[in-house]
Amino acid sequence: MAVRRVVMMTDMEGAAGVTSFEDQGHATGRYYEAARRIVTAEVNAAVEGLLDSGVEEILVIDGHGPGAIHFESLHPQARLMHGRPIALAAECAKILPGCDATCLVGQHARCGVADGTMNHTQSSATIEHYSLNGTEIGETAQWALFSGSFGVPTIFLSGDDAACREASDLIPGITTAAVKQGLSRSAAISLAAGKAHELIRSQIRAAVERHNREPIAPLVWPGPYVLEKRFLFTNAVDGYRGHRLLHRIVDARTVQLAADDIREIIYA
Ligand SMILES: [Zn+2]
Repeated sequence: MAVRRVVMMTDMEGAAGVTSFEDQGHATGRYYEAARRIVTAEVNAAVEGLLDSGVEEILVIDGHGPGAIHFESLHPQARLMHGRPIALAAECAKILPGCDATCLVGQHARCGVADGTMNHTQSSATIEHYSLNGTEIGETAQWALFSGSFGVPTIFLSGDDAACREASDLIPGITTAAVKQGLSRSAAISLAAGKAHELIRSQIRAAVERHNREPIAPLVWPGPYVLEKRFLFTNAVDGYRGHRLLHRIVDARTVQLAADDIREIIYA
């Protein structure tokens, strides 16, 4: 069955031209507005590629903490889920059952990947690592496993080359578009914006066409699940005392949560 409805999760740190949390990623950054336009142009290129491949409905989720979509520039064929706070898991649980595939645009590598530009997992200010059943995971795995629990495969990712590598290791058959080569956490070699857009548009189209021919399996790992979260500071652990999924406090900066249902734990 051909892909008709797609949910596109977006972030800022994997876009070409973005290297700085302080200047671009944070809402107070001097280039934040410019970075939002950069991200939105990449999102629009992905929307174009999806339309080229016959997709009819596209929901874009603004996944970057303070927001990364410049609304006035958003492609007219896309709808946007945005605003904060947002109960991401609960809202996506309503939407994913009716969708055929998901994709990630502007994605970065998980925290601790040396050549991943702006590598982090969820909060760049508080989290050192996540591991699920002993395997280190980042935001790509979180999203693919959550989508996968609804039977929806993640078929495309654009971001820096470390994010693309992470996706390929995780999801057999995924198509990627590397728009930036990480040199360190805060330096990169980026494609020019126009080249990044061409690459994203052609690769996401290829992803859908490939999936229509040879379907990619939804990502599902066997349960039950233990999610270990290691934080930079002890106050984060204090906040988990009494948490309903708490399995074990490992040490002053590390907790383990446990659940049988991936949907309950992956964004807990
Ligand atoms: Zn982000």
